[in-house]
Amino acid sequence: MDKWKKLEALKLKMAENASLPFFGGANLVFGEGDENAEVMFVGEAPGFHEDKSGRPFVGRAGQLLDRLLMEIKWPRESVYITNIVKRRPPKNRDPLPKEIAAYSSYLQKQIKIINPKIIVPLGRFAMNYFLPSAKISENHGVLSEVLTKEGQRFIVMPLYHPAAALRSTTVLKDLEADFRKLPKLLKQAKAVKIKG
Ligand code: URA
Repeated sequence: MDKWKKLEALKLKMAENASLPFFGGANLVFGEGDENAEVMFVGEAPGFHEDKSGRPFVGRAGQLLDRLLMEIKWPRESVYITNIVKRRPPKNRDPLPKEIAAYSSYLQKQIKIINPKIIVPLGRFAMNYFLPSAKISENHGVLSEVLTKEGQRFIVMPLYHPAAALRSTTVLKDLEADFRKLPKLLKQAKAVKIKG
């Protein structure tokens, strides 16, 4: 089965899984982009606009993400964008550890199918999913190597969440500077074969 079909099958499985948190109360926001993407952005959970449209990062934070991608000349369609939790928590509250755990196997499968070179967690929730003891103020823009539960190794570079950058110009400057590192990092990631 090709990657696109595998992702569609996974999406269908999620759509039918009534045991997942917020099932019945919010729409599924599975993720979108190129199934052959070399870079995968992972946010926290959908918000109001994402729930309405069924697409990740389409609200104000998403518009900032689009601008940052445009500035490094990466079309949004050339990367893959998703969240850990794939339905909107009530009133946009932070996802609980048990909710993150419930969605985890789906994210792992999505990563396994897409098999990106670099994973870019956006914000501390997504960062701590991959790097449990990292601090966003220290680890944003810093590379780590991560072994997923499925046994795949990835380069992970956490970034500040675009929503945080909308609230602080200092964070915005850091996010812009970190974003500018991505093209070079991808080139290096493609040149270096990570030991498996
Ligand atoms: N914030 C997220 O973490 N994800 C989205 O899809 C939108 C806002």
